[in-house]
Amino acid sequence: RADVGLYRAKQAGRNRTVLESSRRPPLAVELVEAIARETLDVHYQPIVSLTDGGTIVGVEALVRWKSVTQPSVSTEEVIRVAEENGLIANLDRFVLYRACRDALDIQQSVPGQSMILNVNVSGLELVEKDYVARVDEVLRATGWPADQLILEVTESVLDVNTPTAISNLGELRGRGIRIAIDDFGTGYSSLSRLKTLPTDFLKLDGSFITSITDEGEAPPLLEVIALLSVSLGLPVIAEGVENEHQAAVLASLGYSLAQGYFYGYPQSAPDIAKQLSRDAQVPLPGR
Ligand code: C2E
Ligand code: MG
Ligand code: MG
Ligand code: MG
Repeated sequence: RADVGLYRAKQAGRNRTVLESSRRPPLAVELVEAIARETLDVHYQPIVSLTDGGTIVGVEALVRWKSVTQPSVSTEEVIRVAEENGLIANLDRFVLYRACRDALDIQQSVPGQSMILNVNVSGLELVEKDYVARVDEVLRATGWPADQLILEVTESVLDVNTPTAISNLGELRGRGIRIAIDDFGTGYSSLSRLKTLPTDFLKLDGSFITSITDEGEAPPLLEVIALLSVSLGLPVIAEGVENEHQAAVLASLGYSLAQGYFYGYPQSAPDIAKQLSRDAQVPLPGR
């Protein structure tokens, strides 16, 4: 299913200029306006350190949108509609801008702590020649430090052999921005290719974490990926951690970073700021 979605997204990217706005489906028309009026929301989910008692080290920005005409449109649907209708660059720019601005406020809730901000990037946007300039502009306008930004790119998208994407990634890293391969393990990237990709983190897809159940031993693949992470020098952020048992198993295998409902749901900027200041005052057990 995911493959078909990506294929369609690629097609849409190629045919971007062909789609006249009058022929866009209703949801896309509504989305155009939402982006222009900035009526989308951005929520933030904590990313924690497994080696430091669950301290929050950063947040991932996730876009949220309430359609006026259709009940609860999922974020995946929003991204798909945006990619298929040539809206993704504007959407991603809006999210990056809003997230950098919010992150300055969120970070202030814990004096003396510097926080990492993770923002998702569509592979369709990453292949654009002026992508790096657009990121530069947002960082300049907001003042968010490049070395506290991680851009998450989905693995399967990077398989497309696009020199522009690879050189963009290199330029971004030259500015101190770090790159994470999102949904790692669900795509097709060969291990040899991973070694040469300009990247800094692997975000292990939540499906691997779901396979950690209360019964039996840790899934062997998780051990292999832990070893791979060490040998490639790429720290893993484990996605979709929902309970204490999963967290304990990951920690015992040497995983250092995690994210999931167990640590916090995606929430508004003021709410995540509250969680951060609460956690700063009451150290979690084990610290
Ligand atoms: P992702 O980047 O892999 O984000 C993780 C997804 O897992 C999020 O879904 C998050 O809400 C969900 N999640 C977090 N913890 C748990 C957990 O413990 N259990 C379960 N079952 N799920 C968990 P969400 O927010 O619906 O976003 C879906 C995808 O949409 C994202 O996957 C990302 O690929 C894309 N996306 C979100 N925001 C943006 C954006 O601003 N720009 C772009 N280009 N893509 C975005
Ligand atoms: Mg992500
Ligand atoms: Mg992911
Ligand atoms: Mg995903």
